[in-house]
Amino acid sequence: MNNNYNLIIVGSGPSGVEAALRSAKLGLKVLIVEKDTAGGTCVNMGAVPTKALLKNAEIAWTLGNSGRQFGFSAANLELDYKAAILRSRQVAKTLSDQITSKLQQSGVDFLSGIARVVNKNTVEVITRENYPVQFMTDHIVIATGATPMQVPGIETDGRVVMDYRHAILEETKPESVLIVGGGALGVEFASFWNAYGVKVTIVEMLSHLVPYEDQEIGMELEKAFMTRGIRVITNACIESIQRFTDHAEVYIQGRQDKITVRVARVLEAVSFKHNSEGLGLEEIGVKLGDNGVIETDEHMQTSIPGIWAIGDVNGKLMLAAAGREMGRYVAEKIAGHNPALLNYENMPKITYCHPQIASFGITAEMAHQRGYRVKTARIPFSCNSMAICQGDTTGWLKLVADADTHLILGTHMIGANVQELLGEIIFATANGHTLEEMERVCHGFPTLGEIMSIAAHECMGG
Ligand SMILES: Cc1cc2nc3c(=O)[nH]c(=O)nc-3n(C[C@H](O)[C@H](O)[C@H](O)COP(=O)(O)OP(=O)(O)OC[C@H]3O[C@@H](n4cnc5c(N)ncnc54)[C@H](O)[C@@H]3O)c2cc1C
Repeated sequence: MNNNYNLIIVGSGPSGVEAALRSAKLGLKVLIVEKDTAGGTCVNMGAVPTKALLKNAEIAWTLGNSGRQFGFSAANLELDYKAAILRSRQVAKTLSDQITSKLQQSGVDFLSGIARVVNKNTVEVITRENYPVQFMTDHIVIATGATPMQVPGIETDGRVVMDYRHAILEETKPESVLIVGGGALGVEFASFWNAYGVKVTIVEMLSHLVPYEDQEIGMELEKAFMTRGIRVITNACIESIQRFTDHAEVYIQGRQDKITVRVARVLEAVSFKHNSEGLGLEEIGVKLGDNGVIETDEHMQTSIPGIWAIGDVNGKLMLAAAGREMGRYVAEKIAGHNPALLNYENMPKITYCHPQIASFGITAEMAHQRGYRVKTARIPFSCNSMAICQGDTTGWLKLVADADTHLILGTHMIGANVQELLGEIIFATANGHTLEEMERVCHGFPTLGEIMSIAAHECMGG
C-alpha cells in the first residue's frame, strides 16, 4: 500500500463506498478506511438487517393471521425468533462481503482502522494492529454516519432500555416493548415485533405517526397498527422510566392524562448524533453544527476546501439512497466533472413497516404554502387488480400536481409493496413529464402500477 492518494474516504457505509467506487472508475487513486465492518450502519446494523427481519415478519404475519383467506391454517405455528435474528445477521454478512470484494475488484485500497484527520492533506490511521500510519492525499471525504444519542431520562443501558443496535442483535424475543418515537425506525420495529406476537406500544410526541410524511399517511398507519393490535399513543411525552431487573415502568404524559405502561423492554427510537467526534476536524477548523453535524455547502464541501462530508454525517437527508447519491456527486466533483446539484426533495423516502410507506416530493399543504394551484387525487388499492389478487388492499396512493402545468409535485403512498411504484414516478417527474403523459403509460395487467394512470386521470379532473 503506497501512502499517497488522490482521495481518502473515512467510513465504508453506502455514501463512502459509492464515492470510492465512482472515483476509482474515474481514474483516481482511492483509500477507504473503516473502523468496523464494511458496509457501515446501513449493511450491518440498519437498513439491511431490519429489512431481512421485516421479511420474516411478513411471512410470520401471513402464516399466523391472514393464512385463512388463502385457505390454510397454522394452528400450532411456531415462530423461531432467534432464527429470524440469525438470518438477518447472515444477510448482513453476505452484503458486507460483497462490498469488500467489489472494492477490491475496483482497485480501491481498503484499510481496517480508526482514521483521524491531521490536516487537509494528511490522514492518520490507527490500524487493527494498533499502530499509527500516516497517508497523504489531495482530498478527504468524511462518510462516518450517525449513531443514537443518549436522551436524558431515556438513556440506553442495553438491557431494559435499548437502541436499535441492541434490538437488532438480541436473540431472545421480548414479551412486550414500548417504543419511544413513531418515526421510520420506531414503526419498522413495531411491525416486526407485532408479527412475532410481542405486545407493542408506540409513544409519539407529535399528533401522528411518521410525522415527516403526509399527515393522512400517519393516520392511515395508526388505523392499520391498531387493527393489528399495536397500541399507539400520540401527543405524548415520556416523563420518566423506572428500571427493574427484567422490566421497566414508563410514565407518560398523554394529551390529557398521565399513563403508566409496564413493559419488558423500551426501545429509544428518536435521536441521532452525527459521527464527527474524534476525527480531529474541529482542531483544524472544520465547522460543526448541532449534534456534531458537519456543515457543508450544496457541493458537500466543508468549511475547509478539499475536505468533504457526505451521508448521514452532513445531516442533509439521512437515508442510504441519498448517501449513495452524495458519494457519486462528490466523486465526480473531485474528478473535475460538473454533476447536477442533488435535489433531496425528489429522492425516494421509504418506510418498510406493514403497511409500507413510500413518498417523494412535497405534500399538498407544502405545495399550497409555496403558492401552487394544487390538484390532488387519492386512489385506494381496493380498486387495484393486483392488490386484490394478492389479498392486501390496504392503503392508497395520493398524487399532488400543479394545476397550471400538470407537472407532478409529489406522491404519497401507503400499502403493500408501494416502494416498487416510486421509480416510475420519480423518473417521470425528474424528466418533466405531465399528468397527461403519465396517464398514457401502458402498465401490465394485473400490476400495482396501473394505479398510476388512474391517479393521473383523476388528478386531471376524471
Ligand atoms: C435501524 C435502521 C434502519 C434503516 N433503514 C433504512 C432504510 O430502509 N432505507 C434507507 O435508505 N436508510 C435506512 N436507514 C438509514 C441508513 O442506514 C443510513 O442513512 C446510512 O447508513 C448512512 O450511510 P453513511 O454512508 O452516511 O454512513 P454509515 O452507514 O453509518 O457508515 C459509516 C461508517 O463509518 C465508519 N466510521 C465512523 N468513524 C470512523 C473513523 N473514525 N474511522 C474509520 N471508520 C469510521 C463506521 O464504522 C461506519 O461503518 C436505517 C438506519 C437504521 C439505524
